[in-house]
Amino acid sequence: MPYHVVLVDPSPSRETLAERLRMQGYVVTTAADAASGAHVALSDPPAVVVADLWMPGISGIQLCRLLRSEPATESVPVVLRGPDQNLRDRFWAERAGAVAYVGSGRMGDLVRTIARAIAASPPQENPFFTQLSGGELDLRDRIAAHLDAALFDSVIASEVRALGVCGSFTRLFDLLTQFVTQVTSYRWLAVQGLRPMSFALHTHPAHRALAEAEARAAFGLGDDVPIVTVEDEDAVDATNGPPVRVADILLGAERVGRIALASRHPSTPHDSDLLRIVARELGGPLRIAALMEESDRLAMMDPLTSLMNRRAFSGAARREFHRLERNGEPLCVLLLDIDNFKVINDKRGHHTGDRVLTALGRLLPGLVRRADVVGRWGGEEFVLLLPGCAAGPGQQQAEDIRAAIAGMVVHDDDNVPMTVTASLGITTFRPGDTVESLIDRADHAMYAAKTAGRNRVVADVE
Ligand code: GH3
Ligand code: MG
Ligand code: MG
Repeated sequence: MPYHVVLVDPSPSRETLAERLRMQGYVVTTAADAASGAHVALSDPPAVVVADLWMPGISGIQLCRLLRSEPATESVPVVLRGPDQNLRDRFWAERAGAVAYVGSGRMGDLVRTIARAIAASPPQENPFFTQLSGGELDLRDRIAAHLDAALFDSVIASEVRALGVCGSFTRLFDLLTQFVTQVTSYRWLAVQGLRPMSFALHTHPAHRALAEAEARAAFGLGDDVPIVTVEDEDAVDATNGPPVRVADILLGAERVGRIALASRHPSTPHDSDLLRIVARELGGPLRIAALMEESDRLAMMDPLTSLMNRRAFSGAARREFHRLERNGEPLCVLLLDIDNFKVINDKRGHHTGDRVLTALGRLLPGLVRRADVVGRWGGEEFVLLLPGCAAGPGQQQAEDIRAAIAGMVVHDDDNVPMTVTASLGITTFRPGDTVESLIDRADHAMYAAKTAGRNRVVADVE
């Protein structure tokens, strides 16, 4: 059966070209403008449509987008023709979904391209397919509808992509909910990030427990997975609605997360399109937020002991310090230095020395409260900030730490057990203190402990 070609070309050379194609064995229908070309193609989908890129009225780009979007012609290849060697035209032709762009004067090219396009296109699933019901087509309405959908898509996509710079998963999720609640209304929205595992939910305050249970069920997450919840009245005050929609968030071929949306009742139109677009675009921002969090974490962490490094400790201490100063609560700072560490390095090797430091990095956080801040001050010195802790309990805490270090057994490189001791200085907050002056005093106290014979606590408290 000969292949049917629809040729859309407003120029007088249209019939000459049509004759050329007929000589190749094609059945050719010509149209002088895109509207009549579209009408022919949609009424009886051909093997290929050839159209000029730029035409008065409806352009070849619009025609191509229309044919791509209509079920009757979605798999019909479109070849667009335009000025030779024009990269910009070629770009727009590709974006519109054309299979090829051919220079206007290139008859031979066009013939070969048509043959290739037909060979590559999937066979018509239903040869008896007849098109559209509903009588006369209003092509302009259809094009307008497709353009509306394209605009909706590109606006949502660019809004979601713009979230890519917000630096943390929690902030990303918060901004996402602020944006999505402007576009639709929902009972709850949840996002799960997979690397690292993160899980956030936005819901109305009155229905938090229900929403959380539904979101966990939607993602198949147990109660042990921690959740970040944003609760406010931007989420709808309702307990039921249409089934929850879940979509994978991809970055290239990799699944980096999932998103779930519980629409309001009755379902808001476009929610499935919205979810699809958000899921498609959220992979980049999600990954960037995770990488930024990770790089912040690494910049704050001492790699050997996994404790805060000096810079991070100073920042955390400064924040605690201001908070406690306002509340008038007490505060202890404690500095400790391993005794004769140089000897360990010299006698048992630097690697064993590192082991001692790592062991202390594991020991110290377990000896203090969650709110206490522990850092590696440098070398074999560690620093602790004990918020809300007065002189008496602070001194006891320091003594407990000293004893725990002295009781700790570390194995050297030859698996020989060994012990270490440390000298500690402790001080408490005084009016007019800064973080620096506190640490300075703790340092002096620590040196006094060295001078007094090591493996002891010296307090400089009032
Ligand atoms: P003191 O009891 O007076 O504190 O004596 P010390 O030997 O502990 O003190 P000193 O300041 O003389 O030596 C500290 C040593 O700690 C010197 C340095 O090479 C070593 N050191 C610093 N950082 C590291 C590290 O990351 N790993 C290892 N293995 N050694 C370290
Ligand atoms: Mg030292
Ligand atoms: Mg030392």
